[in-house]
Amino acid sequence: MAMPLAGELNRIFAFDITTAEGKCSNCGARRHFAEAHLYVKCPGLVARCSDSGHVLLRLVHAGGRLLLDLRGMTYLTLDTPQFQDSGR
Ligand SMILES: [Zn+2]
Repeated sequence: MAMPLAGELNRIFAFDITTAEGKCSNCGARRHFAEAHLYVKCPGLVARCSDSGHVLLRLVHAGGRLLLDLRGMTYLTLDTPQFQDSGR
């Protein structure tokens, strides 16, 4: 994934999203988000699944607002070693 999207997403999320793993809602592929294909020559930024080409994420700035569309992913998960499970 190219840096422009990572930079934009790091403004929203308090973690490095490129290390997160997402599941494509179209084909079920589970990949690190950094493997997504980035398209910048469109309104906003679009990340597509490297397997099926399905849109995983859209990020658009318009009218002083930011739209983040994540419906192309079933889930997004990331390791959080700083938050250990309590074991209870
Ligand atoms: Zn896919």
